[in-house]
Amino acid sequence: MRPTIGVLALQGDVREHFSALRECGADPVSVRRESELAAVDGLVLPGGESTAISKLLEVFGLLEPLRQRLRDGLPAFGSCAGMILLAREVLDTRPDAQSLSGIDMTVRRNAFGRQVDSFETDLDLTGLDDGPVRAVFIRAPWVERVGDGVDVLARVPSGPAEGKIVAVRQGNVLATSFHPEVTGDLRVHRMFVDSVRERAVSSAR
Ligand code: GLN
Repeated sequence: MRPTIGVLALQGDVREHFSALRECGADPVSVRRESELAAVDGLVLPGGESTAISKLLEVFGLLEPLRQRLRDGLPAFGSCAGMILLAREVLDTRPDAQSLSGIDMTVRRNAFGRQVDSFETDLDLTGLDDGPVRAVFIRAPWVERVGDGVDVLARVPSGPAEGKIVAVRQGNVLATSFHPEVTGDLRVHRMFVDSVRERAVSSAR
């Protein structure tokens, strides 16, 4: 079964997620309106600029429908700006930025600081047993607090940000500070697509 996975297409690196999802056996579709959101088995929130995406979610009337679908258990994956949007609480953002509360966590935006705007590292991610994942961070957030029921999947292995949480999952909702969509390593997307497929198959029974 090829699940239909939406990519929130308001701003950000939508195209990269499209190709990764397609290669993982999903049918990606753009989501810009409520009717499109209603038709997907899962949703990717891309990297980009979280405050811009937040504003556009309001303009396009998607904020409440998306919150509702997440409450109803919609599987979702957010990378970087997408992680910020999925958080319950965001530090260092604009006061009018909206949160989707898909994951009970506090995220600090642009956390790595100006000197290290962008960097790459290899890190171990729980659930991926066949070697570390190449993680590309671009003005990335990190996670400062997770609630009960949130699994920490990866931390920065070394350097000034050693130990900072950069990948988490709560139920069907997955988030990474980094951008698996730009590396050609499809394992994170595959993990997400598999979870969407499992849920779509079991709810069809
Ligand atoms: N700094 C961006 C934000 O606040 C996120 C950067 C990214 O998605 N690469 O939304």
